[in-house]
Amino acid sequence: MDAKQSNYIKSKKDILANTIENSPFGMAVYSLNGLLEYANIKYLLENKIFEIDKSLYFNDMTKCILNFEEIALRLKTQNAFIIESKMDDNWFKSHFYFIENKTLIVHICLEITEEKNQLIMAQREAVFFSTTNEGLAIIDEEGIIQSINEAFSKISGYTTSEAIHKPIKILNSGLHTKDFYTHLWDMLKFQGKWQGEIWNRRKNGEVYPEWLSINASIDPITLKKHYLALFTDISSLKDADKKIKFYANHDALTGLLNKIQFENMLNHTIESSIRNNKKFALFFVDVDRFKDINDTFGHSVGDLLLKHISNLFKKVLRKEDIISRIGGDEFNLIVENFKDDNDVLLVARNLNEAIREPIIIDGHSCEVSFSIGIAIYPIHGTDKTTLTKNSDSAMYEVKKNGRDGALLYTKNMSQELARRVSLQTDLRNAIVNNEIEAYFQPVVDAKTNKITGCEVLSRWTHPTKGWISPDEFIAIAEHNGTIGILDESIMKKIFFLVSDIISASGNSDFVVAVNVSSKEFFSDHYVPKICALVNHFKINPNNIELEITETYAMKNHQVAIEKMKELKKFGFRLAIDDFGTGYSSLNYLKLFPIDKLKIDKSFVLSLNQDYKDEAIVKSIINLSKFFNLEVQAEGVENIEIVDLLTYLDCDFFQGYHYSKPLPYKEFLEFIEKFNEK
Ligand code: C2E
Ligand code: CA
Ligand code: CA
Repeated sequence: MDAKQSNYIKSKKDILANTIENSPFGMAVYSLNGLLEYANIKYLLENKIFEIDKSLYFNDMTKCILNFEEIALRLKTQNAFIIESKMDDNWFKSHFYFIENKTLIVHICLEITEEKNQLIMAQREAVFFSTTNEGLAIIDEEGIIQSINEAFSKISGYTTSEAIHKPIKILNSGLHTKDFYTHLWDMLKFQGKWQGEIWNRRKNGEVYPEWLSINASIDPITLKKHYLALFTDISSLKDADKKIKFYANHDALTGLLNKIQFENMLNHTIESSIRNNKKFALFFVDVDRFKDINDTFGHSVGDLLLKHISNLFKKVLRKEDIISRIGGDEFNLIVENFKDDNDVLLVARNLNEAIREPIIIDGHSCEVSFSIGIAIYPIHGTDKTTLTKNSDSAMYEVKKNGRDGALLYTKNMSQELARRVSLQTDLRNAIVNNEIEAYFQPVVDAKTNKITGCEVLSRWTHPTKGWISPDEFIAIAEHNGTIGILDESIMKKIFFLVSDIISASGNSDFVVAVNVSSKEFFSDHYVPKICALVNHFKINPNNIELEITETYAMKNHQVAIEKMKELKKFGFRLAIDDFGTGYSSLNYLKLFPIDKLKIDKSFVLSLNQDYKDEAIVKSIINLSKFFNLEVQAEGVENIEIVDLLTYLDCDFFQGYHYSKPLPYKEFLEFIEKFNEK
């Protein structure tokens, strides 16, 4: 080797050394025990080594997930390999290979964080692109589809091969004007984006609404402008939107018009009636005793009953009639095209008859009826408020006359309505202020002709309106939910007097009967409450007879039987009131742990004049003997009836023949006098 040659080689070696020393890759050489033999500047810096004054080992410093022993092992079989490692937030790629006859290991280390992140992003985008529920399409400037995702195919019905390289126009629904698309493309060209609702057509021809958002961007590869279109199928939202609109106008339970929409329809009907000089009838329908169904069988049965009723209206009425549920158990109907009042009343009668058909819901027999009030335009009113008010008054009149019927409005009904409204507030105050009094009506034992009991009846004398019948105010109290407090306040009043009544009668078995409101009876707190009251007043429950109306007891016999058993166990006497007015099943009757049947006064009042009443009373008496129950007749007004009842073997009498219900003091005097005889 001449000097020139050796110079050349030296300079080559220098160059090589220089190249390695200043390489942007970290390079190092290790001996087989992992000791660092050489490292270039980059390698030292990456490992934060600033002076090499002591021995350094691979395992102490490098950015690699493998330790040196693992590397040496792998090199034995592979000679060279590459591995990627993530250290902290950075990515490194490491090459390892043998040199110098496998006595040294070279490690070249390269940071690849940026490339790696880009790759991860791209993978994520690809996953997003393919799995998102939004349809995605990349479209070029000419409107040709370049790529689509799976959701695009799902929504549009076009597969990738069917859509790619096709114009985006294949989705056009034909529902938008040319101007619409011109505007869309103008916006894209000049503003780089467009978004809005658009109707497109699926491959199967179905048209659907979508929310479309298009953004212009530059393709990083071709550097050409393209558009990314992102769209969501909003047909289901549109359905929801329709639903929201529907429920704004309709009652959610029955699907009938709601109150607000009904009022609009009523106004509309008035206007068209003015124009056409025609009549129409506004029906106010209230479901009788609906509250009892809710209270005894629960709200789910009540709800189903309301649905049943709404279907019944649809069946009975004509298609053009308007039906609405204005709240709770109240319905309004508009009936048009009739000749005269009789036609209107016939419609009402059909409704009354239809609801009388047996209704079984969830295994419960729901016996309800309609009270229907009718106001006719223009005779009974020419505006919405008057017509509504008058149909309501007529409905109330039906209720007052014993429910289950229909009436056309008459003038004096308005006064009734005003009275009812004012009574409602007055009654609440009267109950709170303890103005409801307890009266006592004697009960006479047929065998001994002695007063052995009494029934407690409420009396209300209104400061200005005078005496109000309990039938009227009890109905109001049941309607506005104050009956519970009323019955409780009466019980508190009379329980206080029971021991005095017993001593006045001289009979420790004297029976004081109180009426139980069905609503109270079926509430959870009733039994504990009345037991606590009896304990509080230190009364023997044997002296108290609870009167439960037949209709209610039968309606939910299972619950009724349970409650009755509890009360019986506690020691109360139990009577079924108004017997004969409901539809008793003998099966249940025999399960009721009761002491007495009270024959309803409607059968007793004209017992001696009506052979049918006599037959009924006779069979009730026989029934009670059969079941070993006591039997009592109420409404006993004269001696003929007393004689007849005695002949029929009735056990107890109650009625005006003996005495009307009396205030406490008079009642005590009456017993003393009567029993002295
Ligand atoms: P009810 O339980 O059937 O009470 C018997 C009704 O018959 C009473 O009417 C009584 O005054 C009346 N009556 C008694 N004897 C004769 C008679 O010889 N001839 C006629 N025509 N009627 C007679 P009243 O006092 O008007 O009570 C009506 C209804 O109001 C009662 O019917 C009862 O269901 C209810 N009621 C009265 N007070 C209360 C109360 O404090 N709480 C509850 N929950 N209901 C009550
Ligand atoms: Ca009673
Ligand atoms: Ca009764």
